[in-house]
Amino acid sequence: MSSLFNHIFIPVAILFLFSKKLKLNPTEVITLSFFAALPDADSLFFVLKFSPTPLHRVLFHNVFIVIIPLLLLIFVKKRRQVSGIICFYLTSHLILDLFTGGISLFYPVYHDIFFVHAELLFTDGSFIPALEYGISDRIMNMGIGEPAISSENIAASVLLIISAAMAAGGINRKTR
Ligand SMILES: [Zn+2]
Repeated sequence: MSSLFNHIFIPVAILFLFSKKLKLNPTEVITLSFFAALPDADSLFFVLKFSPTPLHRVLFHNVFIVIIPLLLLIFVKKRRQVSGIICFYLTSHLILDLFTGGISLFYPVYHDIFFVHAELLFTDGSFIPALEYGISDRIMNMGIGEPAISSENIAASVLLIISAAMAAGGINRKTR
């Protein structure tokens, strides 16, 4: 399971990387970032057992959740940047989960789970690539017991703080 941290940190960092080129409003990039985690709200249906089958990675983890912001992006000229950012955040969630256990990509039309598992293992002094992909009747890894924020995520935050401090301190400021 991709952690909550990864779901927000990775797409936000990507948008910031291109924010100048895409002329994005940094406040919008931050405030809309909850859309990057929003699909996981379907885990509530899993916990509360509203449904006889688990709906986590199913109910809000499909291409159809992207359709409304995508239509707004295509057909509504106003606030195009907002619908574009929302589209990107929702899609980023689907891609991250597709590679970490799989999602029900076409629910409710088609119920099976699409997954990709691509890794490069380093064992006994050699690299071993591992690639699996396809369609399964179950999710490969529900992420139960895994941290929502891992130790590695904290380290990434520290790096973020250091680079933000460097930016604020004006490391690129020209010396006279
Ligand atoms: Zn998810």
